[in-house]
Amino acid sequence: MAKCPNCGSDNPDYAFYCGRCSAELKDSSGKPYVTPRPVTPPPPRKVVPRLVEVKIATRTVNPMIGGVCVILAGLLAVLQGALALVGEAQILDMTGSGNGWLTFWGVFFIVVGMGAILLGSRAISRTGYAGALIGAVLGIMGVGFGIGPFLALGGLVLIALSREEFQY
Ligand SMILES: [Zn+2]
Repeated sequence: MAKCPNCGSDNPDYAFYCGRCSAELKDSSGKPYVTPRPVTPPPPRKVVPRLVEVKIATRTVNPMIGGVCVILAGLLAVLQGALALVGEAQILDMTGSGNGWLTFWGVFFIVVGMGAILLGSRAISRTGYAGALIGAVLGIMGVGFGIGPFLALGGLVLIALSREEFQY
């Protein structure tokens, strides 16, 4: 649109003279008086890489809680194994084994519990899905005063539910 410098009325861009008051619609340089159309720039779009977006969207606390459960089960198993090695009677009753098995069970619980602790940390760091699952199974096998298996089973479920959150 060309605005008339005299009367202010709008005229088509191609007009040389105002349609209302007949004033000239060009400035001294010969260019027509054109009111530039206001250009609204499009709002800047936030570009977020897709992979990052997906990663953030699917992150849950499940692997962390699962890992903590497995590690706790592992700690209980190690403590239980240590008590078996020093010949605590409770361990005998719990495993239903004779005295000759105390050393075997003591070592077994400690090894299995250590495995659960080490592999349970894989769930917390979200590195190694298979390892974290194996850790949970070791946590179940560790017996852990009868509480450990439930903790480790809960951990196993939480870890299994968050497969896509693990790096590998
Ligand atoms: Zn005019």
